[in-house]
Amino acid sequence: MDWRDWRSWPARITRLWRSSLQFRTVTITVALSGFAIALVGVYVSVSVGNDLFQSRLGQVELDSNRATAAAQGILDASDASDRVQVQSLLGSARSSISAASSSRIIAVFRVPGQDPSTAAPQDFSTFGESTSVISDELRGSVQGEPGKQFWQSVTLATDDGGEVPGIVVGSQLTVPVAGRYELYIGYNLGEAEATLFFVQRTLLFAGLILILLIGAVTWIVVRFVVTPIRVAAETSQRLASGDLGVRIPEKGADVIATLAKSFNGMADSLQSQIKELADLSEVQQRFVSDVSHELRTPLTTIRLAGDLLYDQRATFPPATGRTAELLHTQVERFELLLSDLLEISKYDAGSVDLETEPTNLVHLAEDAIDGLRSLAESKGTQLDLVAPGGHLDAEVDPRRIRRIMHNLIGNAIEHGEGKPIVVSVDSNATAVALSVRDYGLGMSQTDIGHVFDRFWRADPSRKRTIGGTGLGLSIALEDAAVHGGWLQVWSSPGKGSCFRLTLPRTAHGALTASPSPLPPDDAGIDTRDTGAARIVTGGHHA
Ligand code: ADP
Repeated sequence: MDWRDWRSWPARITRLWRSSLQFRTVTITVALSGFAIALVGVYVSVSVGNDLFQSRLGQVELDSNRATAAAQGILDASDASDRVQVQSLLGSARSSISAASSSRIIAVFRVPGQDPSTAAPQDFSTFGESTSVISDELRGSVQGEPGKQFWQSVTLATDDGGEVPGIVVGSQLTVPVAGRYELYIGYNLGEAEATLFFVQRTLLFAGLILILLIGAVTWIVVRFVVTPIRVAAETSQRLASGDLGVRIPEKGADVIATLAKSFNGMADSLQSQIKELADLSEVQQRFVSDVSHELRTPLTTIRLAGDLLYDQRATFPPATGRTAELLHTQVERFELLLSDLLEISKYDAGSVDLETEPTNLVHLAEDAIDGLRSLAESKGTQLDLVAPGGHLDAEVDPRRIRRIMHNLIGNAIEHGEGKPIVVSVDSNATAVALSVRDYGLGMSQTDIGHVFDRFWRADPSRKRTIGGTGLGLSIALEDAAVHGGWLQVWSSPGKGSCFRLTLPRTAHGALTASPSPLPPDDAGIDTRDTGAARIVTGGHHA
């Protein structure tokens, strides 16, 4: 994990957002409280600014009023009559304004439109570069209403070239001999502005600290709540994956404790029910296996007696002879059924041990075909073995694989309607496959779905020569699965069937693909297109 790689940040944050309840809660809390704090901050800052301005304005108006009154007093008390006297009179009025007000920025202009008088002193201004801030509008108001005071917010230039906010207050003075003059006093609001900046800075700083604190507190609080929930989630996950003994620690009496208690109660009842079911199914399995075992001894006796009668059937009257024959075949079927039941009950009990050894599947297939040749000949069926490629050994249990082959080839002969049967063995680096292809009756789609079910037969009335217990393919499927292999079928009514067994070459190998095709190459494309044929996989799904 490299946090310096900023391009991966959005993806990381999205993942964190989706996976962490804590992160999501803290982010939302910080964002909302940050917004609220910003709103309050702006409100406080604006109202403090307003208040500072209003109080300074009040001061300024008082100040300028006082200064103007003092100057007018000096002017009124004078009896100056010529230009020099008026000039010096205005000078002393100016110093009295400076002395009375807290400002040194003063401008005095003669109100325009009066008789030009030689005694009238010159306009002057200490506004410097800021003289232009005295707007025509303000001057108009001052000129229009003598005896009243007007103000205006302005920006004043400072000596060092900067700018500060300020206020200009204007009023009229009446100078003896010279006539009416406008007086403007400029006040610097720099100090008030500095105070406002200070307040804003403090607000910002306090706001940031507050947000951080809120984030930290939320983190801790959410942690308290989320940790038990996380424990509950993990525990339920373990329970779901089959670990029935896990429980959530129960602490306190709050809602989390209630959750833990009810969860644990649920787990308890689940565990006891599963145990009950497991016990029950164990009892059933044992029953089936016990019954099969118990039946074996009397059956052997019946078998011996039956064989004896069968051997002597020629000496019996015809009806009795037929009964002896019937007894013989049914006892044979009974024995077969019993051994199949015993086998399947072993799989159910999970007590199946594989005895693997390096085995050549081609040899095994030859054995199986040889074993069934007489049955095939009785049906007029031709059995072919096709085995291209190298004949490498596979780690399998030969007894079980022979049993699968016997079942598949036997079924093909039974349902192949005397048409040729092709058994092919093929292999690749990781797997070996055996296909049994017949061109007989085939099966419908619904039949294919049941073909591996226990005791299922497509048509129980079909004439059977061997087997016929309906357990053959179920056992074959278990045999394939215990090897980690697949048993799959393709079939189409009237076109025959193809059963394919695929096994990993090594004992614990995993299968990804089979060396032989299914549906078989000669299945015809039309059957696949119309969906008349379907592949059903038993055991480990392909
Ligand atoms: P059984 O002992 O009846 O052969 P299986 O489990 O071996 O039991 O087969 C179940 C049923 O599947 C058979 O009864 C038959 O109807 C059907 N079946 C199996 N193989 C074929 C096949 N090659 N062609 C058509 N139907 C088949």
